[in-house]
Amino acid sequence: MRAMVFHGPGDLRDEQVPVVEPGAGEVLLRIEAALTCGTDVKTLRRGHPVMIPRVPTVFGHELAGTVAAVGAGVRGVREGDRAVAANSAPCRVCPLCQAGRPNLCEDLLFVNGAYGEYITLPERLVAANLVRLEPATPPARAAFAEPLACALGGIERARVEGGQTVVVFGHGPLGCLLAMIAAARKARVILVGKPGWRLTQVQRLGLGEIVDASTPDDVVGEVRAMTAGRGADVTIDATGRPEIWQQAIDAVGRGGSVVFFGGCAPGTSISVDTRRAHYEELALLGAFHHTPDLIRRAVELLEGGAVEPEGLITHRMDLGGVREALALMAAGQALKVLVEP
Ligand SMILES: [Zn+2]
Ligand SMILES: [Zn+2]
Repeated sequence: MRAMVFHGPGDLRDEQVPVVEPGAGEVLLRIEAALTCGTDVKTLRRGHPVMIPRVPTVFGHELAGTVAAVGAGVRGVREGDRAVAANSAPCRVCPLCQAGRPNLCEDLLFVNGAYGEYITLPERLVAANLVRLEPATPPARAAFAEPLACALGGIERARVEGGQTVVVFGHGPLGCLLAMIAAARKARVILVGKPGWRLTQVQRLGLGEIVDASTPDDVVGEVRAMTAGRGADVTIDATGRPEIWQQAIDAVGRGGSVVFFGGCAPGTSISVDTRRAHYEELALLGAFHHTPDLIRRAVELLEGGAVEPEGLITHRMDLGGVREALALMAAGQALKVLVEP
């Protein structure tokens, strides 16, 4: 089969690789839709020891397709079923898995290989995170399950509900998915983003009110002004920049929740006003990755139409276009590229 294979930072090759027949508990999926992700851009630039511990490996991690073959003992899916797979599977036995927080599993198994014609899914992933789809669900929509599950995890951390004001910092695909889920819960959504090609695309989607992030000194004041001086009920950073984490704290109101969704570079830190954290009972919440439950609930949101993220797809390409797609992502000239092998 044809696949885009990651050999190390900056080294992505268009290759022919063998299709691996599924062993016991495994599933062979014919990939019909893969989506580019900001993580791909970062990983291609500098590698990713957690998500890609070994090279070479087929690149990409957001995918949906049709079951082409199942190994012995597989239950839940059959050949010909449409299905979506997450990019990781928890161990289910470590203390954090046992505590009901499998996104923090001590032995999370990561699976890559969206940018190929087929992927052989390992037993643990099949058991935990392969979800059968309704036959009518378009693969391009289903492929959003993984990033949408991450976004849903962030929204759940802050227990976002109708009537609240939710400020999302960052207008990348995940910022947009966070905004979409918050809007689906009938929250008022304010999206903070920098003007440019991507924000123009996002504005067309009508996800919420937009605040211009290009004058950072005014952002917090503007959010306060938009909320009668009180600050937001929930603020979410989806930029992964410590100065924006700081803004997210500054823009939240009394009793509010701040979700640190975007991961910052190693070694960075922020400072917290202890008076506000205490007397205003701020909830400062990290949010990382997804769980099997979140993946299933994301699929429900997609299949039920509560969230319709296809508007984030700005380009469509075949496997040969992956390098160009990731270059567009890196240049801020694409939100999501749909790759159809
Ligand atoms: Zn992703
Ligand atoms: Zn575990």
